[in-house]
Amino acid sequence: MARIRFQNVDKKYPNGFHAVKDLELDIAHREFVVLLGPSGCGKSTTLNMIAGLEEVSNGELLFDDEMVNYAPPHRRDVAMVFQSYALYPHKSVFDNIAFGLHMRKRPAHEIERRVRDAAKRLEIDHLLDRRPSHLSGGQRQRVALGRAMVRDPAVFLMDEPLSNLDAALRISMRAEIKELHRAMATTFVYVTHDQAEALTLADRIVVMCDGLVQQIGAPDEIYERPRNTFVASFLGSPPINYIDGTLDVDGEGTAWFRRGALSLRLPGWMADRLDGQSGRSVRLGLRAEDVDERSEPADGATLAGHVQSVLPVGSDQFLEMQVEGVDLFFRVGKDLRHKAGEALSLSVDLERLHFFDPENGRSLL
Ligand code: ATP
Repeated sequence: MARIRFQNVDKKYPNGFHAVKDLELDIAHREFVVLLGPSGCGKSTTLNMIAGLEEVSNGELLFDDEMVNYAPPHRRDVAMVFQSYALYPHKSVFDNIAFGLHMRKRPAHEIERRVRDAAKRLEIDHLLDRRPSHLSGGQRQRVALGRAMVRDPAVFLMDEPLSNLDAALRISMRAEIKELHRAMATTFVYVTHDQAEALTLADRIVVMCDGLVQQIGAPDEIYERPRNTFVASFLGSPPINYIDGTLDVDGEGTAWFRRGALSLRLPGWMADRLDGQSGRSVRLGLRAEDVDERSEPADGATLAGHVQSVLPVGSDQFLEMQVEGVDLFFRVGKDLRHKAGEALSLSVDLERLHFFDPENGRSLL
């Protein structure tokens, strides 16, 4: 079993820097949790506290029901895979994978069996005699995974393990890590600043900024119902668009978002949540994929503006469009033929609008 709980945990470094603030997080046994956020937000510090590489300054860290604040790394039954892989250059692949088992003085026949099993699963069993310098980046990555696997830890910790790989390999390794999680049936905690990696791997994502948790939730929940503009902007490509405007409730009780000539009619449920405060300033969030260039825009669902640029990106295109003085970016089909300067009307998916408080960025829905 490996349930991991942070209870009001803070981390202050000796120089006084407050890297993690009042962290509350409950990671279930066998869960795959991804810590996501920009550089410096405290992801690695959080992971290192689980590993025992950094001390908890305040609060409690529990493994199952045991407080482990002061437990040294070797008492924690965790294995960690680093971005740099941290392989021994003068040892063979076999000895690199076997290292932790040698340290634990496991019998030779057991080491042999475990290393060969892991290497087979990772499809590097033909490379066991090589040195790391004679391997590709992806193969080195697998050796690092193998070294963690043979220890059969209760918790797997990974700090940006794929960031040194090229784009294609990163995608195939993502699938392998997911499979590894399924096969090993242990708790995984994974650090990345790559939103796509987080969305594909995680059971739950923890979005962090400046040492503070912004939101914890399943990938869909984080993407569909971001709690604030930081989370909304961090996930999505191209990023979510914002349009500042006003909420207006007409004589018939219908709620509208207005900015200049732009008028969007809000679905009833959304108007209810916004609580009909007519005249209040709001920030509309519109995801890049939540427009449709093929259907005829309906009244109250039309975004009219001028095309600024169209960038093909293989299977679709990024469209830059100016609407009421705001530059917006959308993802549209590759058959859209409009050119810079042309007028264009798009149909907006009204059910998928987001609204935020323009002052503090909090979601109003
Ligand atoms: P990255 O993706 O760049 O690794 P991160 O989100 O993992 O970023 P951390 O490595 O956890 O961030 O660092 C969080 C903050 O704590 C950063 O501002 C960093 O400069 C600071 N920090 C990290 N280690 C120390 C240290 N030993 N002493 C003082 N400050 C530190």
